[in-house]
Amino acid sequence: MFSIQSKWRYLFMFLGIQLVVMALLSREGYHKRVTYFIRIFRKTESTVLMARNHTTGAAVGADVYANLSRMSKGHNGGDDMPFCPKTSPYIGGPIHVSFPSGLTLAEVQRKNPTVVRGGRYRPPDCEALHRTAIIIPHRNREHHLKFLLYYLHPFLQRQQLNYGIYVIHQAGNYTFNRAKLMNVGFREAMREEDWDCLFFHDVDLIPEDDRNTYTCDSNPKHAAIAMDKFGYKLPYKMYFGGVSALTPLHYLKMNGFPNNYWGWGGEDDDIGVRVSLGGMYITRPSLKVGRYKMIKHKLDKGNDVNPKRFNMLAKTRQTWKLDGMNTVEYEIVSREYLPLYTNITVNIGTEAGLHVRPPTAPPPKPPAEKPANKTAKGPANPPAKLKEDHKTTQ
Ligand code: UDP
Ligand code: MN
Repeated sequence: MFSIQSKWRYLFMFLGIQLVVMALLSREGYHKRVTYFIRIFRKTESTVLMARNHTTGAAVGADVYANLSRMSKGHNGGDDMPFCPKTSPYIGGPIHVSFPSGLTLAEVQRKNPTVVRGGRYRPPDCEALHRTAIIIPHRNREHHLKFLLYYLHPFLQRQQLNYGIYVIHQAGNYTFNRAKLMNVGFREAMREEDWDCLFFHDVDLIPEDDRNTYTCDSNPKHAAIAMDKFGYKLPYKMYFGGVSALTPLHYLKMNGFPNNYWGWGGEDDDIGVRVSLGGMYITRPSLKVGRYKMIKHKLDKGNDVNPKRFNMLAKTRQTWKLDGMNTVEYEIVSREYLPLYTNITVNIGTEAGLHVRPPTAPPPKPPAEKPANKTAKGPANPPAKLKEDHKTTQ
């Protein structure tokens, strides 16, 4: 009897130990499976939430113009004005972004009565802690520009910034060059004012959260970390496209942006590499805050994909000091202080250089007696064709 009982006992003990060992061994796998299912569950839950938000529309974020009329009108300019607080009381978080048809620039102007000539603004009741210039590379995207201005002006006012908006418009029809236009924007904006931060801003990206402050960090900042077109995630670690913020010192440390990326692609990655070659690193806001909606569009005429971009990118380490802010060449065609922005139309030339033009008849020889110093000129006048192009875009 006793021996049978102890047999059972040993059998149970043996089975028990086996069960414990099996449980321990499968713990890892079990854990993985459970988290996998939890993740699937969460995903469906968030997709349902997103779909719900999408259908209700207005439920996502506040009106970008909400509460702005609380601010007094016009800068009082007195010396006794206090500094603005570190965090603006007008910052509220998510902003509702949509693109209604029928919006006009006149409407944007009417909604922004405190913005002055050239697209400049200072908080009316306190001295801003930051001076930020927005640089927008542009050609043929007036429709996008209108929406960007509609959202950006109140967005920046909510942050109590002293700011100015510069649109750098590429003249002519030659292949687009985003990065070179940024170099022009940097130099021309700094010529006008001692900006302490420059935001390099695609025309079609609308910020969706006003906690994404348009001020600079101690290192170059990539602000457009979460765009709708990439599922509100960073597409890859070194991505530096869309919207980025640099101080003048950061910009010069990396020799600005490259001038030789003609057409679509590559230049933003080159800029990202320059940041580290200049001894700096990329900072970013959180995914929750650095959110942007991109106005949908096709690839533009005159901005074909640049097939050389990968070869060029492979050489950034050798080229960044030879090409950039220290070599940028351009001619200003016009500078206009419009009610909502400063428009700088610029001839940035072609891949072959600034003054390479179709061959024309050789100019007549100057008379021999003319003194040599009379031939020295100031900046060359823009060719008539460029002036015409410029007129049609305003
Ligand atoms: N851009 C422009 N006109 C053009 C091509 C580009 O104004 O014909 C400017 C505009 O600011 C745009 C930016 O360059 O947002 C980047 O180009 P794109 O939008 O084609 O790039 P992606 O959508 O791929 O980021
Ligand atoms: Mn785009």
